[in-house]
Amino acid sequence: MLDEILLVRNLYVSYHGNEAVKNISFSTKAGQIVGIIGPNGAGKSTLLKSLLNLIPLDKGEIKIAGRPIQEMRKKIAYVPQRSNIDWDFPITVIDTVVIGTYPKLGLFNRPKKREREWAYECLRKVGMEEFSQRQIGELSGGQQQRVFVARALAQKPELFFLDEPFVGIDVSSEETIINILREQRNQGKTVLVVHHDLSKAGAYFDELLLLNKELVKYGSVAEVCRPEVITKAYQGQLSFLEEMGMTVS
Ligand code: ADP
Repeated sequence: MLDEILLVRNLYVSYHGNEAVKNISFSTKAGQIVGIIGPNGAGKSTLLKSLLNLIPLDKGEIKIAGRPIQEMRKKIAYVPQRSNIDWDFPITVIDTVVIGTYPKLGLFNRPKKREREWAYECLRKVGMEEFSQRQIGELSGGQQQRVFVARALAQKPELFFLDEPFVGIDVSSEETIINILREQRNQGKTVLVVHHDLSKAGAYFDELLLLNKELVKYGSVAEVCRPEVITKAYQGQLSFLEEMGMTVS
């Protein structure tokens, strides 16, 4: 596999003529957890969705392991924002995870015993096996998120994209999820996480992509978490700097 798992060049995306992200270029080496950070409305979710080929680009190029995104979509597992999921949908926990095995299954094949066993194993990894027959809507926020992480694992992807995975979940689920992401990273997988809370950035991420419609900075946590860089993106929202224990002179 290429060292460079993700390459983005001159990416522009707009909604009804309004630019949401513009002129984004970066590349990511495999085996990293990358945090996508930036203020509300900075285009973080838009960037993630464009990398998943879920929304059309105005311009730009996206390559996954040197191949066009359309060919590589199945190699990416996506955990959407919890608020965008219909939790009333009548489906059990185990069936939610089995769906993760579909990209590997071929068009007319139904999941068989092997896929269900793998789905149970993924549920075990997130500590949710005893909830396998529950309806997804009956779970707490943290439990639901763990099930979606299990579904992502079931896909056996090369890349994991998660949109605000820690919002509205308990501390122990957050710990379980970050540990699983670290384990995947250690196995050479690449993880992109949209995240709004800067205070955990140093603990959770290897690299940060700081966005405010344009790319403000992409680099190591030490390179990005500097007052002059953060201020540029947050433009006067100084409470963020205080949250990180930073002061600007
Ligand atoms: P973030 O994830 O950083 O909060 P988003 O990517 O959700 O930012 O949004 C970036 C910009 O695009 C915002 O101005 C937002 O209002 C706009 N936007 C996002 N989704 C849509 C949509 N489906 N239709 C129209 N505008 C949108």
